[in-house]
Amino acid sequence: MIVVMRPDATQAQVDHVTNLVREMGLKDHPIVGTDLTVVAVIGDERKVDGDVLERAPGVNKVMRVLAPYKMAARTDHTETTRVTIGEGDGCVFGGTQVPVIAGPCSVEGEQEILAAAEAVKAAGAHALRGGAFKPRTNPYAFQGHGEDGLKMLAAARDATGLPIVTEVLTPSDVELVSKYADCLQIGTRNSQNFKLLEACGKQSKPVLMKRGMSMTLDEYLQAAEYILAAGNGNVILCERGIRTFEDHTRNTLSLSVVPELHERTHLPIVIDPSHGTGKAHLVPAMSKAAMACGCDGLAIEMHIDPEHALTDGAQSITPAVLSDLMEDLARVAVAVDRTCVPG
Ligand code: PEP
Ligand code: MN
Repeated sequence: MIVVMRPDATQAQVDHVTNLVREMGLKDHPIVGTDLTVVAVIGDERKVDGDVLERAPGVNKVMRVLAPYKMAARTDHTETTRVTIGEGDGCVFGGTQVPVIAGPCSVEGEQEILAAAEAVKAAGAHALRGGAFKPRTNPYAFQGHGEDGLKMLAAARDATGLPIVTEVLTPSDVELVSKYADCLQIGTRNSQNFKLLEACGKQSKPVLMKRGMSMTLDEYLQAAEYILAAGNGNVILCERGIRTFEDHTRNTLSLSVVPELHERTHLPIVIDPSHGTGKAHLVPAMSKAAMACGCDGLAIEMHIDPEHALTDGAQSITPAVLSDLMEDLARVAVAVDRTCVPG
């Protein structure tokens, strides 16, 4: 951290700043220039409140040098971290292969999820998604089948071999969901539910963590840090669009976060073009764009009968569209030195 003093700061004010720095358990290194003095602060600045220094008399501004997250930061990780979902190496995020997670928004019934899983498998996608616990804006809307839904997902996994990704809503459900799921999803509305993040960090299944719909990247990576710091290194980030003034899509899918996050963090980054746009007809183009800009995976809503889906039908593609998309993705992947071969 660098504390920049005002040009008219007195020696007493500089001394006050160096005393504060020492009280914080850090070392100070004042550098006296021709126009002003700066105090370099040496040590782990993440543990201190820079605002205290910024408010001290004679201080112009405080510049942080380190990112406020330690384990999530790219720093000396040259390679993106690889996170494997399920048994074997058919679904690895962060390597050359770019896996596709597909399936309905919600687990609706035993037959529906089984048919969806078979369609996902036939299209060549790599994992099955489906919510058993649904975070709904309206309390009267379908809330998911809970544990029964988890059992239906597990049966679909048994039938197809596809690993399953499903959302957990509360810390008290983490144990139950992790008993069935191959990967726990943390939804956008829960992305700063710090107790849930910690609980997911204390269990061993990988976590697909969505970005909050009004979260900055700095806040996002600090939230991911909660899971890493609690002991689980298997975190996959997932951009699903943010709230803006734009109204031609449900959310604004900010694809520039992919190369930006790759600079800031070693964690793999998945794009969800379904919640990102809210419109099924935009999903193929945005999936290919996401592949082109370097995403490490895709999470796509696919329903066997979107018109009759209980949730998010308007943004769900059909099995036929998913099949065509998988072929297109395989071609785009080659152009960016990746692969997207059937799982
Ligand atoms: C979902 O994946 O169906 C979902 C509820 O996503 P989000 O948290 O991104 O809205
Ligand atoms: Mn959904």
